[in-house]
Amino acid sequence: MSHPKPVAECEHKTFFADCIVVRHPDDSNLKKMVGYTLEVKVKCADCGLPFEFKGLPRGSAPFQPTVSFDNTELRAPLRPSRDPAEQAKALLNQNTDSNGNR
Ligand SMILES: [Zn+2]
Repeated sequence: MSHPKPVAECEHKTFFADCIVVRHPDDSNLKKMVGYTLEVKVKCADCGLPFEFKGLPRGSAPFQPTVSFDNTELRAPLRPSRDPAEQAKALLNQNTDSNGNR
């Protein structure tokens, strides 16, 4: 196994990304989810230097993108997508009148 490249000499050309999805249960009903966040960390695969996310507030919130205190972890809210068949039906209903005409 090769040694990591010194940070000062590295051009940061390849990357590792670690991600997990965190569930946020309702405090009064742990089976009910109030939201989900994708937590992502990126580092250079050659030298190991962590990368920082820019332009987001620090903290953790299920409804707004945030970053960790050191900016190295993106916390992005997400939700389950609708069933594709239901989504297609909803789109079709948007484009038709009450008689089913387009
Ligand atoms: Zn690097």
